[in-house]
Amino acid sequence: MSDNPQSMLHHNHLSRRGFLKIGGVTAATTVLGIAPAGQLSYAGALTKEQRQKLTPDEILALMKQGNERFRLGKESPHNFLAQQKASAKGQFPAAVILSCIDSRAPAETIMDLGIGDTFNARVAGNVANGDILGSMEFACKVAGAKVVLVMGHTACGAIKGAIDNAQLGNLTALLAKIKPAVEATKYAGDRSASNYGFVDAVARKNVEMTLANIRKESPVLADLEASHAIRLSGAMYNLETGAVEFFV
Ligand SMILES: [Zn+2]
Repeated sequence: MSDNPQSMLHHNHLSRRGFLKIGGVTAATTVLGIAPAGQLSYAGALTKEQRQKLTPDEILALMKQGNERFRLGKESPHNFLAQQKASAKGQFPAAVILSCIDSRAPAETIMDLGIGDTFNARVAGNVANGDILGSMEFACKVAGAKVVLVMGHTACGAIKGAIDNAQLGNLTALLAKIKPAVEATKYAGDRSASNYGFVDAVARKNVEMTLANIRKESPVLADLEASHAIRLSGAMYNLETGAVEFFV
């Protein structure tokens, strides 16, 4: 067994490639681990042992590399059936991601992640409430995830709605959670929803404020962060370029 974390960062990519090459040999649901040469020979989902060896920073690096593969059109040849079978009896996700419901920003797809890799919470404008915090606390404290990633995106409709004071049923209360970010955004130009520069600046501020909110409202997660058991990070996904920018 190699304990080189770099080789593990490629677990999805290499393993799925390897899976295709050697077909039935690795089709067993048992995870086979890492070959002596540093190449993964496993066909399934992330294992407890693999996650144990990864630091929060290495997990974030894995996500960055996955997004690079996505942008280059070089995604791993996902064998979702093998991942489904390998993870059916247990899951060991490396991270929990809070992102927007926008149909163009599916976190797992744009970071080339597979079944069992991450917990995912999606809500318009990627804001945290008590239910989201409870989900994150489960993901990290109970299920062992090491990264909390809050990911906003460009041209976000929820952000535009908050800027425009949109009113609609239950959406009104949701947008109220984003409005503090509108007010807190320092921006010299046109502060309207038709100015995408401003919209994206608010989205970025909203990610920062959501992270601050998580620390303030969840002593469980704040304690895990203080002991370096987890890392809280923020990112923006660019709909035009396909790039995920990790800025916190
Ligand atoms: Zn959005």
